[in-house]
Amino acid sequence: MIIKPNEISELIKEQIKSYSHKLETTDVGSVVSVGDGVATVYGLDNCMLNELLEFPNGIYGMALNLNESSVGVVMLGEDRLIREGDIVKRTGKVVEVPVGDNMLGRVVNALGQPIDGLGPISTTKTRPIERIAPGVMTRKSVSTPLQTGIKAIDAMIPIGRGQRELIIGDRQTGKTAIAIDTILNQKGKNCLCIYVAIGQKNSTVAHIVERLKNAGAMEYTTVVSATASELAPLQYLAPYSGVTIAEEWMESGKDCLIVYDDLSKHAVAYRTIALLLRRAPGREAYPGDVFYLHSRLLERACRVDEKNGGGSITALPIIETQAGDISAYIPTNVISITDGQIFLQTELFNAGQRPAVDSGLSVSRVGSAAQIKAMKQVAGSLKIELANYRELQAFSQFGSDLDAETKRVLVHGEKLMEVLKQNQYDPFDVNRQIIELFIAKNYLIDDIETNKIQSLLSSIYDDISINHKEIIDELVEKKIISKELESKILTICKELVNKYKEII
Ligand code: ATP
Ligand code: MG
Repeated sequence: MIIKPNEISELIKEQIKSYSHKLETTDVGSVVSVGDGVATVYGLDNCMLNELLEFPNGIYGMALNLNESSVGVVMLGEDRLIREGDIVKRTGKVVEVPVGDNMLGRVVNALGQPIDGLGPISTTKTRPIERIAPGVMTRKSVSTPLQTGIKAIDAMIPIGRGQRELIIGDRQTGKTAIAIDTILNQKGKNCLCIYVAIGQKNSTVAHIVERLKNAGAMEYTTVVSATASELAPLQYLAPYSGVTIAEEWMESGKDCLIVYDDLSKHAVAYRTIALLLRRAPGREAYPGDVFYLHSRLLERACRVDEKNGGGSITALPIIETQAGDISAYIPTNVISITDGQIFLQTELFNAGQRPAVDSGLSVSRVGSAAQIKAMKQVAGSLKIELANYRELQAFSQFGSDLDAETKRVLVHGEKLMEVLKQNQYDPFDVNRQIIELFIAKNYLIDDIETNKIQSLLSSIYDDISINHKEIIDELVEKKIISKELESKILTICKELVNKYKEII
């Protein structure tokens, strides 16, 4: 065969003509600029939203802004080694985290990689971290209680499995303490826990993990940690990773509890990313979609029906307020998304009323359906009694002459407030809560000195659980206080109050 040069050149010219750059720019791009954890990449025409992109040196990024000729990428690793012109490749995958039972007992970062030094996690299954929340038809109403073990909450602001209850308050008012106590109280209650730490100090997270370990709570808990020292994109991803791990369990019919500590810092991390990506700032410089940021997260917590696994995710998001201002932007957003809030007050906390739950501003919109009957019987009037007490307390500061009825309400309120005090790391069994509230409700301790009430109540409960175990057994079995049981508890408690009030 003779090769003619002009034919060959024709062929080559033809090929060059029909050569398209498509292949190059659809799956590969090059870095135009990089800095502050954000890169702009030219090319990547087919890139998906939230797609994982591979940079040189094994560094990954996530596509968040899809523009006509460029992609805005947030870095999930150090960006110092990346240079202008570096090649960026598509991975074809959105960001995923490993899921499954082997995640229990582990501390992982926002991408689900272990950071506790216990070696790799052997899971084969992963799930994308963004998912549309289960629809209305797949859900079931909340009917099983999630006991926090904290008297003030289980009595007045009951939480059900599948509920979203916000914990809100100023800094250092015991927000984390409530969440951790609730996790501790899930021991042996068939509820897996996830604690998501966002923007906290490394030492705080280490302390919490240590606490959980010592109490044997890590066996059923996963900690997802994106501390303050980590990049804003990782802090942004952490809660979604957490709920993704929980969803796997929910779909296999298990109940889970997830704590987001805290979403104020999550919103700040998102604001950082949005401003660096040059999205338009809105109120308080947060981007316009900051409501959707939290609603799409919290909507994923629910109780699904049997066809969809029958499990549940209960969410306890935490929000930090400034000077008790619950009407600021992010607090109002999250209040409107959740099914109620536990409001913690600095004044109460400083006055020694701990946990500092404000019974007036705290509500639970769905949990009372899940509260057990006996608890309803003893705690039904608690909120009103405390409201009366607060009202008269403010009023009585002006006058010195009080009538007998006012005095009675004031004394009773003071004793009730004392009963609601509880130490940290000491969650109570629901039956113990019922007995203590029963005693307070029936005015048995109104003539006891306030500072002796705690030790009196614990002595009485110890006595009952040893010498009158049948009461506890009946409460456990029937979950209701019948007329006979009521008079029985009343007689026994009267006796015990008289017995112990001399000793203490
Ligand atoms: P931050 O805003 O720093 O996250 P926070 O609101 O999460 O704080 P915690 O860290 O839970 O608050 O608690 C603050 C302090 O109060 C801690 O030292 C904790 O030990 C103490 N504390 C919390 N709850 C109680 C309680 N029920 N009884 C006694 N001390 C408590
Ligand atoms: Mg905290």
